[in-house]
Amino acid sequence: MTDVAPSDSMPFSRALAPALDWRAACASTNSELVARAADAPDLAVLATDTQTAGRGRLDRVWSTPPGSALAVSVLVRHEGAPDPHRLGWLPLVAGVAMVRAVRALGVADARLKWPNDVLVESGPAPGKLSGLLTELTPHGVVIGAGLNLTARADELPVPTATSLVLQGLAAEEAAVDRALAAYLEQLLPLVAQWRSVPRPADLRGIVEPELGTLGRAVRVDRPGAAVLIGIASGLDDDGRLLVRPADTTEPTIAIAAGDVTHLRYE
Ligand code: ATP
Repeated sequence: MTDVAPSDSMPFSRALAPALDWRAACASTNSELVARAADAPDLAVLATDTQTAGRGRLDRVWSTPPGSALAVSVLVRHEGAPDPHRLGWLPLVAGVAMVRAVRALGVADARLKWPNDVLVESGPAPGKLSGLLTELTPHGVVIGAGLNLTARADELPVPTATSLVLQGLAAEEAAVDRALAAYLEQLLPLVAQWRSVPRPADLRGIVEPELGTLGRAVRVDRPGAAVLIGIASGLDDDGRLLVRPADTTEPTIAIAAGDVTHLRYE
């Protein structure tokens, strides 16, 4: 049995990624592309609108009702050992691609929450619209993204989630082929830019303008360290989040991993 779609499906997306591997259903696009990374070509794209075992960071679950969300993974191959300084920027660049994509689809208020959630924080249905998960393999980085398209509030897995339709788009405006094409249209040139900028820190100018986290009061739950409350003040040369502690006698801290929560001022 095969669930591979005919090559005339997903025309907008296929115009950007002719070898698109579109599935009627897939357990986890990231798990499958990670498993195939040794043999898959550079910029291989695997996507579905029915992901049945989606994953988030730290073994968290990404869950979506069948047919209501885009799940897409893209392999960015590397030859030899990747530059760790450049590597740190790739999840952020992918998040920028998703923010620009959903904005192009009509969600004006979408912003990136460091490192790579796409949130809408105002309006009648605030929440997380998209989550990204990048995974390193010996052959390249797999960039996974989940984007809620048509789910209604009572269909979403957590009250903190939102979807394109909840942001006011009509179902046809939130169609999976349109959404995937909008993402690939942004991601592919940004990956090329990520590869070619002379210094990885040059990517700061691309990422910071989309980052809703900057200037915000944040809480950072770090593995094995005390909770940090402070103001997110910028990105360092490796894409780490700089947080100025509320206790001003403490030095600014660069966060590489950790759960960042945007705090409200009230
Ligand atoms: P958080 O969203 O709490 O900041 P995170 O960035 O670590 O956490 P991810 O690993 O990207 O999150 O995604 C997993 C989390 O996303 C889950 O723990 C759940 O709270 C949330 N989630 C799961 N499915 C969806 C969905 N379809 N839409 C929005 N959020 C979801």
